[in-house]
Amino acid sequence: MKRMMDEDSFLKARQNMVDSQINQRGIHDGRVLKAFRKIPRHLFVPEKYISQAYSDHPLPIGNGQTISQPYIVALMTAHLDLNGEEKVLEIGTGSGYQTAVLAFLTKEVHSIEVIPELSDFANKNLQHLNFKNVHLHVGDGSLGNTAHAPFDRIIITAAAPDIPELIVEQLNSPGRLVAPVGGRWRQTLEVWKKDGKGIEIEKILPVVFVPLRGEHGWQE
Ligand code: SAM
Repeated sequence: MKRMMDEDSFLKARQNMVDSQINQRGIHDGRVLKAFRKIPRHLFVPEKYISQAYSDHPLPIGNGQTISQPYIVALMTAHLDLNGEEKVLEIGTGSGYQTAVLAFLTKEVHSIEVIPELSDFANKNLQHLNFKNVHLHVGDGSLGNTAHAPFDRIIITAAAPDIPELIVEQLNSPGRLVAPVGGRWRQTLEVWKKDGKGIEIEKILPVVFVPLRGEHGWQE
């Protein structure tokens, strides 16, 4: 009974999150809104933060990392412009929440995480939802994922000093990449659109992400 009441209050919190944090801030894509109404974000946060799962801010997930603010996850997802047929690479699995949103919206998702404990955490969280189209990998995502390239979409969920050339090479044409790019402490959310003519970069808004580590990330 308590569990059912909890589920009911999570559902209400989730609908409220979608209405006030996502829809009212200008994200109106019906498929994206549906994904955020469906995916139970409270399954992706550590137990002690569960009451804040639908709050308007990032939360710690352990190992010094965070699950991003719902609006930012939604904004990045909307800019990926998914129609359901794409093969997507996510760099920075973290809690697996963004992975679940992607899995709901497209055909095939590869997600790579450099911290093995977090990949395990994401794997455990994702098991509740039983997606068959998610492939988790442990490794340095600043190198992309050559084994499964090319990808129609790439999303980097950690702050990149720049977009490494070999990641751009792993993006199909036409294809899109969404990432926070810039300094160690402040970045700009960028959308890279690749087509036969080259690459067009759109700058969306200032953001603050944890750093991308690895060979093409931040070293310190
Ligand atoms: N998308 C995640 C979610 O929904 O919970 C949030 C990701 S968190 C903001 C950034 C993640 O990127 C962290 O889990 C971090 O360990 C990971 N990361 C940092 N550098 C990486 C790298 N070189 N390769 C793969 N993952 C990396």
